Amino acid sequence: MTHHPVIRRNSGYCHCCRNEVIFESTHDWLRDYYKCSVCGSIPRQRHLQYILDKYFQGWDGLAIHESSPSADFIRRYSGDNYSSSQYFPEVPLGSYHQNIRCENLEILTFPENHFDIFITQDVFEHLFSPATAAREIMRVLKPGGVHVFTAPKHGFLKFSRCRATLRDGNVVHLEEAQYHGNPIGDGRSLVTWDYGSDFEFLLQEWCGFPTVTYVTRDPSIGIDGEYLEVFVTRKI
Ligand SMILES: [Zn+2]
Repeated sequence: MTHHPVIRRNSGYCHCCRNEVIFESTHDWLRDYYKCSVCGSIPRQRHLQYILDKYFQGWDGLAIHESSPSADFIRRYSGDNYSSSQYFPEVPLGSYHQNIRCENLEILTFPENHFDIFITQDVFEHLFSPATAAREIMRVLKPGGVHVFTAPKHGFLKFSRCRATLRDGNVVHLEEAQYHGNPIGDGRSLVTWDYGSDFEFLLQEWCGFPTVTYVTRDPSIGIDGEYLEVFVTRKI
């Protein structure tokens, strides 16, 4: 086994496990390697949790839905009002597969005005129709409700770029195919969109509601690295 030297190490407070911990990275790509020694969380997960703790106090008692969770950091503090879902193409929408509810973000089976908080973490860059999903999420949120989410936003890109689209049910690649790891299915998911500096404008156009973008760099809460923005779209 190769031993990788630790290149970053500091103590601090982790919002994912709510402990005083050591944050450590063995790689300069902090986004995926700067981990909490107790819960294994990475910076974007801690940032999202930090935004919830800081700006949405009492969030854990609200009606929360999390799409495609890759960890239990939200669920572990939430009450009975927490629910989650994954998309399984072969399972009828709204029904359960191995105890997991199947939902497609582009055609949610929930009624309108249903949730206080809707969470997606690194999901939006894998959707064929993020516009439809953004509208659907706003539909199922209560008035005043929020979509709290992460997605990589490329500062160097002026305009968001669609990498792959669907035509007659077939994937058509407009850019070279790129994949990210995925905890379910065949373990990888296609990147369909590179979001650029117009991302918030697009969101407004797509769903009709404004988005606030949070940028935080603070090693004392384990938040440092690239692509860590947390977006909050509010159904005002
Ligand atoms: Zn932790």
